[in-house]
Amino acid sequence: MKILVTGGLGYIGSHTAIELSKDYETVIVDNLINSNISTLKGINKIGFSKIIFEKLDLCNLNDVKSLFKKHPNIEGVIHFAALKNVSESVKDPLSYYQNNIISLLNLLSEINERKMKINFIFSSSCAVYGQSENLPISENEIKKPALSPYGNTKQICEDILTDFSKINSKFNVVSLRYFNPIGAHESGEIGELPKEEPQNLVPYITQSAAKIRGKLTIFGNNYNTPDGTCIRDYIHVVDLAKAHTCALNYLLDNKGVNNEFFNIGTGKGNSVLEIINSFEKVTGKKVVYKIGPRRPGDITAAYADNEKALKYLHWKPNYSLEDALLSAWNWEKNYRKT
Ligand code: NAD
Ligand code: UDP
Repeated sequence: MKILVTGGLGYIGSHTAIELSKDYETVIVDNLINSNISTLKGINKIGFSKIIFEKLDLCNLNDVKSLFKKHPNIEGVIHFAALKNVSESVKDPLSYYQNNIISLLNLLSEINERKMKINFIFSSSCAVYGQSENLPISENEIKKPALSPYGNTKQICEDILTDFSKINSKFNVVSLRYFNPIGAHESGEIGELPKEEPQNLVPYITQSAAKIRGKLTIFGNNYNTPDGTCIRDYIHVVDLAKAHTCALNYLLDNKGVNNEFFNIGTGKGNSVLEIINSFEKVTGKKVVYKIGPRRPGDITAAYADNEKALKYLHWKPNYSLEDALLSAWNWEKNYRKT
């Protein structure tokens, strides 16, 4: 079976392509807007079978048409491709709406026009819940307005997929709402490689420990949490990657499923200070930090109720927080010496 992985040279897509290559013929498309072609080498070094790569922009409908013409036997799509920098999306909302929505619409219009039977997995986010007050957050949580244009693109894309799945019985979709993916493949060949200064906590910590960045700023220590810093649900990227193969199997095994949503997280919350302390403990590296003001849009705490994924996807996270932090550091060290 041939599976299309959009954004497959990115952080989560590359780890997922490795998992898929065990059982499926895998085609990656990416326009390299936030990834590096060197990742393809890493993927092919550790992947289980050769992965095909097509460089193209999903916002270009002609490119998408040519892609499906060349690979008419695609039966599954995992759609990672998107812009994902929250603060950039506040400064430049149009680019985010354009890229994240047009790319999805182009894929769906081709799938529709070609009358393809497709199992589709969408990279959604816990950002769809907005400022949720209930913990842990379950899929039944009433969605609040998203806190950024980025989060809004995820809400809109989920709605587009819901509406499209209603009128197309050959189109079955699972949206996976990721919490905070961190870490890297155990080989150290692929990992998180932001093109700009990292916005996320763990890549900032590893780059700061590698002396590529200065001091980490903790965005606020006056939240209503035991140590005053925000709490998030940090999940190892390889566990997250495996959730995609489980979701694909779920769609293949449950022919009646048309449109479902699953939280993908560990179910446990850790504070920013706990992350720093664990990183120092497992790596022996000091993280130099200062306390700064709160970051606009941050919520106090978010962690997943992951019971639905455990029950229906037959998935469970296997790695610990320490495993994830150590793998992130191993990747950073490995990458920087090359
Ligand atoms: P990433 O930026 O590393 O990967 C996305 C990939 O998509 C990049 O390689 C980029 O070059 C490619 N891309 C973007 N627009 C494209 C286009 N128009 N055509 C072709 N390729 C395009 O991001 P990631 O962390 O791997 O995230 C993957 C998905 O998961 C995204 O949809 C993101 O919104 C979602 N997500 C990520 C997180 C996170 O913390 N990393 C959390 C929740 C959801
Ligand atoms: N954070 C921080 N300093 C940084 C980056 C992030 O203190 O340089 C905090 C941020 O305020 C949040 C947590 O780390 O509480 C996780 O942030 P990240 O951007 O990684 O993920 P988010 O949950 O915002 O998607």
